Amino acid sequence: MCRRCQQWNETLPHVINHCGIHSHAWQLRHNAIVERVIKAISPKAKILSANQNVCGTTLRPDIVAQVGKKVFIVDVTCPFEGASTAFTAAWEDKCTKYEPLLPLYQAMGLTATVVPFIVGALGSWCPWNDKFLKQFKLFRLGLTSSDLEIFSD
Ligand SMILES: [Zn+2]
Repeated sequence: MCRRCQQWNETLPHVINHCGIHSHAWQLRHNAIVERVIKAISPKAKILSANQNVCGTTLRPDIVAQVGKKVFIVDVTCPFEGASTAFTAAWEDKCTKYEPLLPLYQAMGLTATVVPFIVGALGSWCPWNDKFLKQFKLFRLGLTSSDLEIFSD
């Protein structure tokens, strides 16, 4: 039994990712990553919204950024790395969730892409993030050590 919430088994995934007692800490971790991504891409991208409902829907992606006619719908998630499928599942969840926005941006003459930005709860880096960052000429290895500390908060 979890010593903090007294409700669930005290497994590592529970303590790191699910225990309600720690929800404020996850929010901070999540927000720190969002802030870091905004800071990293904003010299090259226009930030259209951050944590706001978009296109008249109830969908609230962490970041919507625009470069020319391209729109990136970025949502940060920190899945627990317990299973080898954790990142794939997180990726698919985010794509499914924000897919309804794609035709709405298309109707505005923009090409939208959903970008799940995945950093494992234990700090592991999802290599798919690099594909997104490279479009901004950002490379993970170019990050300073303090940037990497944020990604592993
Ligand atoms: Zn608990």
